Amino acid sequence: MPQSPFANSAVSAPADRRSPWYAAGLAFVCLRCGRCCGGAPGYVWVSPQEAAAIATHLQMSPEDFRHRHLRRVGRRWSLLELANGDCEFLGRDADGKARCVIHPVRPRQCQTWPFWASNLRSRRLWEAAARVCPGIGQGAVHPLPVIEAALRGNERAALPF
Ligand code: SF4
Ligand code: SF4
Repeated sequence: MPQSPFANSAVSAPADRRSPWYAAGLAFVCLRCGRCCGGAPGYVWVSPQEAAAIATHLQMSPEDFRHRHLRRVGRRWSLLELANGDCEFLGRDADGKARCVIHPVRPRQCQTWPFWASNLRSRRLWEAAARVCPGIGQGAVHPLPVIEAALRGNERAALPF
């Protein structure tokens, strides 16, 4: 019988009622399938600092980067995506594994997946995210402080500027 992807998640009952349901940590490892970087249309929010870092990484001026790779959404900026919904920075290695072309400077939103508030609000939502991301429930258990740091970082990244 195949093992549940949550078998090694170590998401046992929290110590007290104030603890989040994931207090014991959550297992996750990126399997580089690329699903989270493509598919249905979405937004990859980019702060001005992140845009500047990506522009430098690509050896472009910040203005050129903004014109060629960003779109304005309300008060925020998002990376452009291709007609098929893929992020335009999603690449593939020869073995078919997904590779982020700007990995060292990828936006905070990408760095903190799958530890987003929208995925952590309940165990049911976490399990729903696992249907998109096969790395959820696999690999090493990320302890609570790591998850909380990701949550805080993503909250800041989501702020309009
Ligand atoms: S969906 Fe999950 S396993 Fe696939 S590339 Fe994204 S983070 Fe990695
Ligand atoms: S910037 Fe990189 S990690 Fe983020 S969505 Fe695009 S390809 Fe994926």
